[in-house]
Amino acid sequence: MFNVYELFNKINEVKPEIRLDAGQPDIPVANEIIEEAINSLKRGETGYVSTTGINELREKIAEVEGVSKEEVIVGPGAKILIAAEIAMANKIGVIAPYWNAYLLIAKNFEKEVKIIETTLENSWEPEINDNLDVDLLILNYPNNPTGKILPREKLKELVEVAEEKGIKILSDEIYAEISFKSFTPVRELYENTVTVKGFSKLYSMTGFRLGYAIADKEEIRKIKTFIESTVTCVPPFVQRAGIKALELRDELMKKVSREYKRRAELASKILRGLEFYEPDGAFYIFLKTPIDGLEFVYKLLERGVSAFPGIAFGNYQNFIRISLTSDKLEKGLNIIKEVAECESQ
Ligand code: PLP
Repeated sequence: MFNVYELFNKINEVKPEIRLDAGQPDIPVANEIIEEAINSLKRGETGYVSTTGINELREKIAEVEGVSKEEVIVGPGAKILIAAEIAMANKIGVIAPYWNAYLLIAKNFEKEVKIIETTLENSWEPEINDNLDVDLLILNYPNNPTGKILPREKLKELVEVAEEKGIKILSDEIYAEISFKSFTPVRELYENTVTVKGFSKLYSMTGFRLGYAIADKEEIRKIKTFIESTVTCVPPFVQRAGIKALELRDELMKKVSREYKRRAELASKILRGLEFYEPDGAFYIFLKTPIDGLEFVYKLLERGVSAFPGIAFGNYQNFIRISLTSDKLEKGLNIIKEVAECESQ
């Protein structure tokens, strides 16, 4: 199995000039957010707090998401909340290409995984049929790595199958605020949904470790048990920073989300003529490569550009993922285009 961390080590060793590999936003965290965290620390907010999250943050999340406070739980990053759900499931359905962590978490908990493949030719839309025998189906739109948002009608079809079979949906909507076209939260269409979101992408707060889940009260109680017995709670000063972030949400959606849209359009322009899906959201391009994707990644490294091979996201040997998170993006994309053209001759 391809090991992402081995490639990370290689990238860190080579130190390429242009990093287009990780999902680490280059846009700095807003000053107001950082100041809020510092002020909270200075006020002495340094102890354990409630496992579900401090009241003010839960209330703010509930207001932004249009749910009740009791349907919200805060966690140290979206990932651990996803882990809580995977830990509770028996057999998990994952749509490929996928964010690798779903599989790594499932492996840790020794869970069975069923992969549902999708293709570029089919615009990365899954065909979910009646023999889907899983109890938890993970959806991730806008998608990492393809940038796909599933059209509402397609989502409805998918949800109908889930409903019929009593499948719970875990909707990883961490990129929802970075949508360039209409996005439907899955819970709007289907009650048996656990939504997971976070502060790592729109707000660039990756190292703060802050995320939240939205679900019915009984499900929140179960997730609470998991968080309580593992990580206890999210530090209060991190939660205070989260409140500030949500206060800035509309402003940042205009500024930051628009910036990623600009980059996606720039990428689509530079890479024109190559094969990829023009992203509907998030900050990635999943590009088809004329040679093996991993080989392509090593050729790019020689030219000072890093990217991830498609095999990090499933059975996609002839793809690479380009992360649009560098201020040297334009130069990097031009190099990618050159290498692709050179290799296809
Ligand atoms: N979900 C997806 C699809 C991601 O791409 C990422 C980060 O790359 C996460 C979740 C992780 O979120 P967090 O930093 O809140 O754990």
